[in-house]
Amino acid sequence: MIITIDGPAGTGKSTTARKVAEEMSYCLLDTGAMYRAITWGVIHYNIAHQDPQALQKFLQEHPLKLTSRFGERRYFLNSEDVSEHIRSPEVTALVSQISAYPIVREALVPIQRQSVQGMNAVCEGRDMGTTVFPKANLKIFLTANLDTRAQRRFSELKQNGKLSPTDTLESIKVNINKRDEFDAAREHSPMKPAEDAILIDTSALTLQQVVDQIIILTEQRSD
Ligand code: C5P
Repeated sequence: MIITIDGPAGTGKSTTARKVAEEMSYCLLDTGAMYRAITWGVIHYNIAHQDPQALQKFLQEHPLKLTSRFGERRYFLNSEDVSEHIRSPEVTALVSQISAYPIVREALVPIQRQSVQGMNAVCEGRDMGTTVFPKANLKIFLTANLDTRAQRRFSELKQNGKLSPTDTLESIKVNINKRDEFDAAREHSPMKPAEDAILIDTSALTLQQVVDQIIILTEQRSD
């Protein structure tokens, strides 16, 4: 059984996907983390990513590997564990640009499919229902209004002590909107709901309400 959860930043996608996976004992595939790992490598190794040959060479020389340690996913670039670096503001600022390159997507999609083959999995990202798992048993697309999404991201950063001195509610709003517009407008696998996706607006819902809805829908599909 494959459940896909797509949608823009700040809809509660990652937390929802993690909780659904935990409650149903499914495996979790966080594809945003994979694009982030590649982006970290591009920054760290100073790759001229606008040059397709340089990017291709980098991808070949730094294959991405996923492992699970005590149930927690770790991300390796050419054997280097990069898991702790992939949520940095520098990576967040560049990841949409890097994930729009077709060669990057072509390198990651086979790994995404392979890593959940034959398993029950919750797969989270932007193109899970449209491109990576078009035959998924259940496709969810989460939405929420921009103000709510910005407020959630702001509170999350504050709670984790990751709010930088220049971050304001307004700057976060501008940044997530910019990233979403870029992700939705790109040519290759843009972020959009699959035709058969169920849309859930999470603006006025609690995390548990969203999780419960998805679990009920999953149970209906598996009957
Ligand atoms: O979900 P997260 O915010 O970690 O995703 C980071 C970025 O990775 C997104 O803004 C998007 O550019 C890219 N991404 C993507 N396709 C996916 C998952 C993420 O293009 N399936």
